[in-house]
Amino acid sequence: MEERSVKYGKTTIWYGLVRTSRRTLGFVVHTDARVEMRAPIQATAEEVDRFVLRRAAWIVRQQDYFRSFLPLTPPREYVSGETHRYLGKQYRLKVHATVGREVVKLSDGRIHVHARHPRDAAHIAGLLAGWYRPRAIARFEQGMDIAMQLLKKHKLARPEIIVRRMSLRWGSCTPQGRIMLNPELIKAPGRCIDYVVIHELCHLVHPDHSTAYYNLLDRVMPDWKRWKERLEQQSA
Ligand SMILES: [Zn+2]
Repeated sequence: MEERSVKYGKTTIWYGLVRTSRRTLGFVVHTDARVEMRAPIQATAEEVDRFVLRRAAWIVRQQDYFRSFLPLTPPREYVSGETHRYLGKQYRLKVHATVGREVVKLSDGRIHVHARHPRDAAHIAGLLAGWYRPRAIARFEQGMDIAMQLLKKHKLARPEIIVRRMSLRWGSCTPQGRIMLNPELIKAPGRCIDYVVIHELCHLVHPDHSTAYYNLLDRVMPDWKRWKERLEQQSA
């Protein structure tokens, strides 16, 4: 696949160009915001660029929409002074060298990491992940308690929560009725976590995003849009 780009105002739209036996130009915007153009063998690259430009407004809108679901975190160095989030609040990281037990503690508004290899970013990242994880599991289960209560009359079996790193989504549900949640979600405000759990649980009643689905979501969490937006800002 050929990688190309076109300038649209201040935005650069990157796209992959695939040549096919089709007779017309077409494209897809994937859920990870990649754009793939499919073009006839004889179309020139300039023709394809012009086609992308004509559809640019729509493509960018679509990309923004999909990106709003991408849990992006800026690259981290895991050094003292860096800010890390927990339940919607920012905490400064303080890395201490220790020869004893390695421990992570939240106190006086900071996350203290006592580490044997304080300059090893991957090591600090691992210690922090080990601190976040049980807190994520506990808070996600609490979100599930809330969601189950709100959807009580649907008599759903309480789904199993699977905490799994996903690069593209905060949450998803499987046809077997399991709910997968991104551990990164523990960095967002608690109500954002509730929103994701409620959103997924509503899918066990309506698997699609139909009007019936949104009616249900509106009924059980009338202010869900507010938390969805918070979550989108979170990922920016
Ligand atoms: Zn959904």
